[in-house]
Amino acid sequence: MDNIFRIRYRLEFESHFVISSAVSQRGMFDITTVTDPDDLPYIPPSTIKGRIRASLQEFCSSNIIKYPLCSQHSLKNSTLKPSSVCPLCRIFGAPGGELIRGFFFSGAYIPEKDREVFKRMFEDTDEVFLYKRTRNQIDRQLRRAREDALFSVGAATKVNTFEGEVVEEITHYSIDGSLRESDLALILTGMRLITEMGLSKNRGFGRCRFTPFEILPSNTTWQDIILKYINSYMR
Ligand SMILES: [Zn+2]
Repeated sequence: MDNIFRIRYRLEFESHFVISSAVSQRGMFDITTVTDPDDLPYIPPSTIKGRIRASLQEFCSSNIIKYPLCSQHSLKNSTLKPSSVCPLCRIFGAPGGELIRGFFFSGAYIPEKDREVFKRMFEDTDEVFLYKRTRNQIDRQLRRAREDALFSVGAATKVNTFEGEVVEEITHYSIDGSLRESDLALILTGMRLITEMGLSKNRGFGRCRFTPFEILPSNTTWQDIILKYINSYMR
């Protein structure tokens, strides 16, 4: 299984960010960004996977001739022929479980080399990495701030670089080689199109960039893979 595709990427935030958990982990905030067992901020696998899927869905739906999607994944009208499989089903699995996912998406974590520094830094005080931000809503009738709508958010500030990986599953490895490569190129494209995490303010926000820094086994760059794929479509 030496030839299985593996993408290692860096996820960098350009702003403070929140990837919120349903319940606040710290008393003074209504929501805070999620933390791992070391109490360090991280981005859970479901968030990474969901964000890349949404990005790909948008990309494929705006290129419906080139990338026909099934009716479950299509944001516009499905143009998929009955005999073909939708790339999103191949990559993420089909809703209902008829097709299992073709790629594993890890969470994104503070790189090993930086963890000790942050662990020590965050031991002292929550304030170091939690940014308090209050928002409120205006009561339309009373025309003043609603008292029950004051909201505090614990966002991560000092931390901005995370690393994660996307690994091809064995079932995907055994499909047609050109489909494998096109799925890899699609994932890389979807990653590069992402400019922010969290599409709703209450569940999370933050401007960011995904930069793949290692792609195995080909040992080429994401630029080359995307370019090769685009060229094969133009021919
Ligand atoms: Zn699909």
